[in-house]
Amino acid sequence: MKIVAATSNEHKLREFRMILWGHEIISAAEAGFTGEIEEKGVNFEENALIKARAIYRATGLPALSDDSGLCVNALGGAPGIYSARYAEKYAPGKFSGGKDEKNRALLLKNLEGVEDRSAFFCCAAAFVDGTRELVRIGKVYGHILTCEKGKGGFGYDPLFFSDELGCTFAEAGEEQKNAVSHRGRALRQILKEI
Ligand code: IMP
Repeated sequence: MKIVAATSNEHKLREFRMILWGHEIISAAEAGFTGEIEEKGVNFEENALIKARAIYRATGLPALSDDSGLCVNALGGAPGIYSARYAEKYAPGKFSGGKDEKNRALLLKNLEGVEDRSAFFCCAAAFVDGTRELVRIGKVYGHILTCEKGKGGFGYDPLFFSDELGCTFAEAGEEQKNAVSHRGRALRQILKEI
């Protein structure tokens, strides 16, 4: 099936293609969608549906989205749905580097001296094709290290130590990460049902 992935994140797109092999995954831009989607939802599920519905409406093709983030227990679940914009929202101008580096720097700062560093990644994947609206959740548990380890992945990967893998997501191979990741788990549930 030809499916439009409602993401502009190259890393996510690559993971989508690896996890959903057997289907043709094209990006929203490749499907001719250039607009912005405002993520007004109050949780991952709502945001994932907002994105998939918008892409289906604009392209007429089956659309698959993911809304995901890191939830840290000692921070009351933050950064949560604000994971992508964590530093921009709570510490604008405070750190240097790219978006991901700034987000990781703020996370480390907010966890200074904190003992409970347990955390999980959560992903809501939504599929919309005009007759169906599916939303499925995937989670993966671990803890936040005090310094970065590994060079792969994106976002918070160098700080997230996976309990199941025994290493950070940035140290893991792509297939290893996809086998246990929040995104892998959510997308595989969708895959079974479409
Ligand atoms: P979204 O594009 O609004 O879903 O934002 C997701 C954000 O959560 C990303 O920009 C990352 O900061 C973080 N994130 C989600 N999934 C992952 C992952 O697999 N590894 C590292 N960070 C992730």
